Amino acid sequence: MPSKPIKKTIGVMTSGGDAQGMNAAIRAAVRGALIRECDVYAIYEGYTGMVDNLIKPVQWESVSSIMQHGGTAIGTARCQRFRQFSGRLRAAENLLKYGIDNLIVIGGDGSLSGADVFAQEWPQIIDELFKQGKISALKRKRHPELRIVGIVGSIDNDMANTDMTLGADSALHRITGAIDALSSTAHSHQRVFVVEVMGRNCGYLASMSAIATGASYAFIPESPPPDNWGQTLCRQLRTARKAGRRDSIIIVAEGATDRRGNPISSSRVKEVLDQNMGMESRLTILGHVQRGGAPSAFDRYLGTASGVAAVSELLKNDGESRIIVMKDNRIKAVSLRETVAKTHAVAEAVKNCDFKQAMALRGSGIMNSVLETLSLPGAPGRGCAGKQRTLALITCGWPAPGMNNALRTAVRLGLAQGCRMLGIKQGAEGLINNDVHEFGWMDVEEWVASGGSKLGANRTIPNEEEFKTVAATVKKHKIDGLLMIGGWTAYIIAERIDRMGEIYPELDIPVVCVPASINNNLPGSELAIGADTALNTIVEAVDKIKNSADTSRRVFMVEVMGRYCGYLALMSGLATGAEYIYLHEQGIDLKLLQEQLKKLTRGFKKEGRDIGLLIRNEKASEAYTMDFIAQLFDAESGGLFDVRKTILGPMQQGGDPTPFDRIQGTRLAYDGMLQLFEKLKSGDKTSAFIGFCGSKSSVYPMRELGSMVSRTHQRPSGQWWESLVNIATGLAIKPNI
Ligand code: ADP
Repeated sequence: MPSKPIKKTIGVMTSGGDAQGMNAAIRAAVRGALIRECDVYAIYEGYTGMVDNLIKPVQWESVSSIMQHGGTAIGTARCQRFRQFSGRLRAAENLLKYGIDNLIVIGGDGSLSGADVFAQEWPQIIDELFKQGKISALKRKRHPELRIVGIVGSIDNDMANTDMTLGADSALHRITGAIDALSSTAHSHQRVFVVEVMGRNCGYLASMSAIATGASYAFIPESPPPDNWGQTLCRQLRTARKAGRRDSIIIVAEGATDRRGNPISSSRVKEVLDQNMGMESRLTILGHVQRGGAPSAFDRYLGTASGVAAVSELLKNDGESRIIVMKDNRIKAVSLRETVAKTHAVAEAVKNCDFKQAMALRGSGIMNSVLETLSLPGAPGRGCAGKQRTLALITCGWPAPGMNNALRTAVRLGLAQGCRMLGIKQGAEGLINNDVHEFGWMDVEEWVASGGSKLGANRTIPNEEEFKTVAATVKKHKIDGLLMIGGWTAYIIAERIDRMGEIYPELDIPVVCVPASINNNLPGSELAIGADTALNTIVEAVDKIKNSADTSRRVFMVEVMGRYCGYLALMSGLATGAEYIYLHEQGIDLKLLQEQLKKLTRGFKKEGRDIGLLIRNEKASEAYTMDFIAQLFDAESGGLFDVRKTILGPMQQGGDPTPFDRIQGTRLAYDGMLQLFEKLKSGDKTSAFIGFCGSKSSVYPMRELGSMVSRTHQRPSGQWWESLVNIATGLAIKPNI
């Protein structure tokens, strides 16, 4: 008879600098391990807790209500003793007291390097412990190796092999919020502000926050400025001031240097500006604020998905230490050793002033050159080859936060290529009614941070008759190509224009659609502009709703937008710990509701639960409405809890765009314009839609739209996030363990 596998014993710890999203990772790792019937221990205060035996068993409830908080619920520290063999010896002795030989380490580059050293040394350590009589021969035999899975918690986003580390998105929220606030005072007084952000070897926070705030310049470690940076910068600022820019923000990463590796500190930048600009600039060092505050929706998702993946990886039992990363919008496990080595190689390249190598290893060149163009004080006057082209921009469908940054990017990239740039007002109505305006460089200067669409957007789709006047507008303004930024309505209009080219020769022009919809229901792109802002709005609202239930036993039912696409419902449910999430994609039936009710009441009756959360997509089911489910649960709970309903409504469409949506607006508009330029160059007049699948940009002919979507439900045929449902609710409802 095969022997029963020995139960795994897993230790979970956070170490080094704290980062938002660590709590989501702890919760997911602990609950994920408990579901898989492991024994789980929390190691408090990082490696200090390992050396000093601050190790305690954790249960399901130990990690309740932590996900929405910044920092780490189990503490973190920097521990010099762990850097010595003697410290690691004590750490191992303590771990073995509990039988822990599997570790989930949530931390930065340093913590994971330490973990790597520990895992490599383990055989030598247990031999030594045996020799010293600290462990028995049986114990040595039972724990021949230490398996480690790392989760990268670092606001700097400085780890190799991953597109995002835990905390980087939330830090960008803090930075963007602060710079938005500084911009309004700088604008009033026509001031220059120098803002220092974190990033020792990595310019991610500096360059992304520069894109997200429309900053005038960013100093980053991987790409130092030319030697005469002081003169160039001051000249640029003066020209911009003359052109009408009232506020100038200069962002400096804390590790910025010149080409010889001498630090360019934020105070040095201020000094240079003050000496040369004839006015006093202001310096703000954001410091630890960047680490603080509630984690963004993305960091909660990243932490949760990484925690679950870390447990699966440990249970695979193949011995090699791994690290959980996000690559191309998917969670993966890669070699811990190789990732740590590659991360050190970037730091080394920066230290050795090999900036070409540093940029190549980071792979972030394109966005930096886009930023360079966008921050110029006027069109560089490169001019495109051949005759001047006229490109028009239009926003269609419901406004989505981030559209304005997409418009700003498109206008400036077009002007930089020597194109005439037009804006069509009020969506298709502007095409029908000839409501068209020409843009200059400074017209879009302050469009970065505002929600909605400065052009106006609506859901009008021209009918057959109206296409005649649409064609007349295109002819009148000699429009050579159209960039459509919007949702489902934009795609339908673009599809029709593509066909109408056969009837009206004026409409035989390329149209490129850029996905922008809070519903995130567009084909060819995993994330549309606007969805991240809506998601964060929902998550913040639900946090508040949950908070209001201090006194009574209550189940909240929250209805969110999305039309027939469950993205917002699922991701907000995952990020707020909802017990049940109702999606149109999955459907609802009575049997399901009965089962859910049974589990909910058991939670309230037997497990001390005093709050429940249900998230429902607005179109989840025609029959099982919000009212129906709420009344059913309320009536059948036998007085154990009452059910409160909230429809979040239009607030989900409003608000300032999140940094991600601003960056996504820039990225997608850049790609859309690139497509238009290529089409104009090659004479290709077919229409297309673009998007990002993972971090790869893709382009699809408009004629493929039909094969990629369900027209009835206005959503893509396959949606990448649907498999996350089980993770979301699996971690919220305690199984019978
Ligand atoms: P972060 O993990 O945020 O990069 P640190 O670099 O300060 O933070 O590392 C956190 C802790 O990880 C250190 O205090 C130390 O205990 C441990 N550590 C880091 N590097 C090593 C190493 N090479 N060997 C052993 N332990 C290390």
